[in-house]
Amino acid sequence: MIVILKENPDRDQLAGFIAWLEEKGIQVHTSVGENHTILGLIGDTSKVDIDLISALDIVADVKRVQEPYKNANRKFHPHDTVVRVGNAQIGGGTLTLIAGPCSVESEEQIISIAKAVKASGATLLRGGAFKPRTSPYSFQGLQAEGIRMLKLAREETGLPIVTEIMDATHLPLFEDVDVIQVGARNMQNFNLLKELGKLRKPILLKRGLSSTYEELLMSAEYIMAGGNENVILCERGIRTFETYTRNTLDIGSVPVLKTLSHLPIIIDPSHASGKASLVPSLAVAAVAAGADGLIVEVHNDPAHALCDGPQSIRPEVFDTLACKLNALHKFLKTQPDV
Ligand code: PEP
Ligand code: MN
Repeated sequence: MIVILKENPDRDQLAGFIAWLEEKGIQVHTSVGENHTILGLIGDTSKVDIDLISALDIVADVKRVQEPYKNANRKFHPHDTVVRVGNAQIGGGTLTLIAGPCSVESEEQIISIAKAVKASGATLLRGGAFKPRTSPYSFQGLQAEGIRMLKLAREETGLPIVTEIMDATHLPLFEDVDVIQVGARNMQNFNLLKELGKLRKPILLKRGLSSTYEELLMSAEYIMAGGNENVILCERGIRTFETYTRNTLDIGSVPVLKTLSHLPIIIDPSHASGKASLVPSLAVAAVAAGADGLIVEVHNDPAHALCDGPQSIRPEVFDTLACKLNALHKFLKTQPDV
């Protein structure tokens, strides 16, 4: 349920109203807007009398929220959420470029790629240390050593680091990681999501291979229900009958998720296509659709990459692409909303 307050509500009445709701076991989430303050009521509101609330002096309107996601719902929080990471921000009208290799392979590799993508305008560095691989015989990532190397690359470049967690028991290793990624395969690992909800660190939550928008938002809700509101959604392609591409990029997810939720949404054109040659077009489409950013796999030697070489673009390709994406984003900002 959401309660829209009148402008400048009486403070004592408001405090009394919130205390009354909390006594009933209802959590109250306050969102202060330019004109109106909105109270999002979370919990069993079935016994709350809408007419009684509507009659209060301080209340302008009351609506029931049908969707099962509350904290992630735009109705609860009409303004875009902006997630801040060091000097970078995700959401709120900016275009954030996250780039780096699929996996951290060596100090030299991660540092040289970090320097290159930073020079091209990336504001965060990606790199997998724990890799969810389909085959147990494939490279599983450098794990703790990989995280150490990422931190070294951060020291060298100042870029905050984004890396994937596969198991809640690894959390101590992620203490000094700037953004924790939840991969597509773990989107519904509810115990992991609950643990991440206890943190206040940004979480990059990737859409599961066959998950609906509602399932993605319910996974975000798990994190937010614990009090961590720093969630970034990521569309990375879904499974369809098409096998030419690794996955099918659901570009419609951008306007849909922006309507349903206030959380920022970024696109991963690399896992969505599986082919380096397709990455630039999908990245351009993502910006055109209104994405808040991109996470792109970049490798200095794709032919010898230990993971996802075929979908990794070279630093010089990323450089040209970043220019094009920034120019397009700037141009679109000058155009009216339609
Ligand atoms: C990744 O980003 O390295 C990754 C494994 O992505 P996804 O979870 O989307 O497959
Ligand atoms: Mn990858």
